[in-house]
Amino acid sequence: MDSIGTHDALLAAQGMHDHGALLGDQEGPGNRGVDSRLIAEFIGAAVDLCMVCHDLQLSLLAEDPVSAARTVEQACVAVNAVWGCLPESLVNEEVPGKTTLQFRRLAAAGCGGNNETMFALARAMTSADRRAALTSAGEILSVVLRDDLMP
Ligand SMILES: [Zn+2]
Repeated sequence: MDSIGTHDALLAAQGMHDHGALLGDQEGPGNRGVDSRLIAEFIGAAVDLCMVCHDLQLSLLAEDPVSAARTVEQACVAVNAVWGCLPESLVNEEVPGKTTLQFRRLAAAGCGGNNETMFALARAMTSADRRAALTSAGEILSVVLRDDLMP
């Protein structure tokens, strides 16, 4: 609850917007202590293309391994829902593409529902690594969800 309070205070202090209305449950199975509100705000800002909020939420999420892993998971779920699979460029470090290696490592670890491995890897990563993974997750989610929301 403290992190949510801090987040709201930060947003209020900086005149930020509310981007969290778009998505409901971000918790996922297992109740791992995911900051659902922060993830929803992060994804909402990505979809709204609000880079000011997006950058702030990126920094907050990078410090929260559980929520960072859940965000990468959400990106994988969204891609799967649209294409029915994860393209090689999202999981294979050898394939050319602009998706960060850190995202690919997490996505590859989580492939086939192996979520515990992915969450453990996220915990072992540095904040900078998580930030790199989250940058790609935000880009992927914004593309997939914006597309999804088109009439
Ligand atoms: Zn904003």
